[in-house]
Amino acid sequence: MKYRVVEKFVSINGEGTKAGQLAVFVRFAGCNLRCDYCDTKWAYMADVAYVEMSGEEILEYIKSCGVKNVTLTGGEPLIQAGIRSLLELLAEDEELFVEIETNGSIDIGPYDDMHRRPAMTLDYKLPGSGVAASAMKVENYAHLRAYDTVKFVASSIEDLDVARELIDTYGLAEKCHVYLSPVFGKIDPADMVEYMKDNHMNGVNLQLQLHKFIWDPDKKGV
Ligand code: SF4
Repeated sequence: MKYRVVEKFVSINGEGTKAGQLAVFVRFAGCNLRCDYCDTKWAYMADVAYVEMSGEEILEYIKSCGVKNVTLTGGEPLIQAGIRSLLELLAEDEELFVEIETNGSIDIGPYDDMHRRPAMTLDYKLPGSGVAASAMKVENYAHLRAYDTVKFVASSIEDLDVARELIDTYGLAEKCHVYLSPVFGKIDPADMVEYMKDNHMNGVNLQLQLHKFIWDPDKKGV
């Protein structure tokens, strides 16, 4: 089995439960959604340059980096053919903490029976993303574990209203990590803090994407 890898590098994790820690990133080609604010559009372009790597080659690269956190991202990593084989291979290495960034439109139920299932970071695409709510699989919330994350990237107060309703309806803050993140340059993080205060959003984390503050927001490979 070969996977289409468009980028691989070591950086600090800009978001999530391992934010600020080193991580090996493996970015896969292709995405089934088209978010307005996507900062990795190039990764789903039909003509994107990629290398085909086997699971063993990906694991070998990860081990050569000497970094234990692994983030599989995209694009949408869960649409890679045979991705489960790669996840199983990585799960065999008990030194690694593997996280998958997935866009919330793909069923995560099929991974329930895995030994050492990776941490899932599920986006929910709010209205400001331009993606229809019908594309989001809220059924996934039945499969969440305490080490998983649901992430809402908000462009506006209206987006925050939708996020809050979902967090309440599905009891997300009691099930897993929940992050609210601003679309860079679209909503003032200070306004998000006010919103969280006004709505008593306990158990919810505001998160700024660290890499966008450390480097140019459009820089690749960081
Ligand atoms: S799901 Fe992610 S990779 Fe796909 S278009 Fe949206 S932001 Fe970009």
